[in-house]
Amino acid sequence: MLDPGRIMERCDALARHSELPGGLTRVFLSPQARAATDNVLGWMREAGMQAKLDAIGNAAGRYEGERAGAPCLMLGSHLDTVRDAGRYDGMLGVISAIECVHALSARKKRLPFAIEIIGFGDEEGVRFGTTLLGSRAVAGIFDSKALHALDSSGQSMSTALNEFGLDPNRIPEVSRKKGQVLAYAELHIEQGPVLEAEGLPVGVVTAINGFSRLRVTLRGAAGHAGTVPMKLRRDALAGAAECVLATEKVAKGHAELVGTVGRIEAKPGAINVIPGEVMFTVDVRAPQDPLRNDAVAAIRSHIDKIAKDRKLDCEIENLQEFGVSACAPWLMDQMDKAVARQGFPVRRLPSGAGHDGMALGAITDICMLFVRCKGGISHSPLESITQADAAAGARVLSDFIEHFEPRGLSA
Ligand SMILES: [Zn+2]
Repeated sequence: MLDPGRIMERCDALARHSELPGGLTRVFLSPQARAATDNVLGWMREAGMQAKLDAIGNAAGRYEGERAGAPCLMLGSHLDTVRDAGRYDGMLGVISAIECVHALSARKKRLPFAIEIIGFGDEEGVRFGTTLLGSRAVAGIFDSKALHALDSSGQSMSTALNEFGLDPNRIPEVSRKKGQVLAYAELHIEQGPVLEAEGLPVGVVTAINGFSRLRVTLRGAAGHAGTVPMKLRRDALAGAAECVLATEKVAKGHAELVGTVGRIEAKPGAINVIPGEVMFTVDVRAPQDPLRNDAVAAIRSHIDKIAKDRKLDCEIENLQEFGVSACAPWLMDQMDKAVARQGFPVRRLPSGAGHDGMALGAITDICMLFVRCKGGISHSPLESITQADAAAGARVLSDFIEHFEPRGLSA
């Protein structure tokens, strides 16, 4: 039997492992991460799994199938958090998956495939500024250059791994090969308001949206706010304001597109000085790469034109880019059926936020189940879900697992 009360209690228990007193901050390879990981490994063993800390600091558990050594259905999510985080983003997916296996092992039921659950050590990328470290290692796409990345105290990832009791040279051993993983399925809170607005406890994810990030610098001329006439000014901030609105306008041009200017800095930044230089960021996301690429091109050309008309120098840098990770249609179909069998309306929706599946897509087909969260809020202590929704999510995941038909076996 699934025990939703236990899911909620375990989310609370992990939230106590925090470097932030009275809140929740737990970063990769920290003492708090070690304590949370040890909890999770214990729960995996209690659920009848073999469990161990792997070489990148993931909690990895395996529940054998009818025959030992069979390929696995991989489940998981992450155990690290952002700063001043909520207690469900990531952890709910790991704890719910363990609950599903617990229910199987309590009935001594084995499936034609193994189940592996991974509590990824780093998804958020808070400590070393580079994301998806745990899932990249499992997918065999860990970039060893990341070992030299430094945290804010100047410690390298490689030293941090050593201090955690891990050997960076063994990271390649963590990687799974194609064929060993039949599919990857992740339960995660929605982090958006769609399910709540429609009164639905769960939704089936169609794709993890791709994103593009730009850094734009506009340079005009600083000058005295009292003496330079308006028609002689080259005000970089007034130009940036037009760019912000242009970004918004492009993003509003398609229902599935979002665009955000999240950071802006004006120099010299004084009340009586015309801003001579402005830097701002642009973040664009969409469930289709061509839609995102077209939007980025449109935003760039608006910015160029605004700068030209205002005689500002303009520099646009590409900071980061990640293509869409589409969920596999055959897995979405199986997840839809699980949702329907559990008596919920089937709703498909894209994920605006990034997830571990983006990395796992390198070795296997992926799918995700979203669970409604209050107000669509995440990455905040206000993040909240109901026990009834935790139960709904676990029931659907459990149903999906028990009816899972690997494509290779059914074809
Ligand atoms: Zn997450």
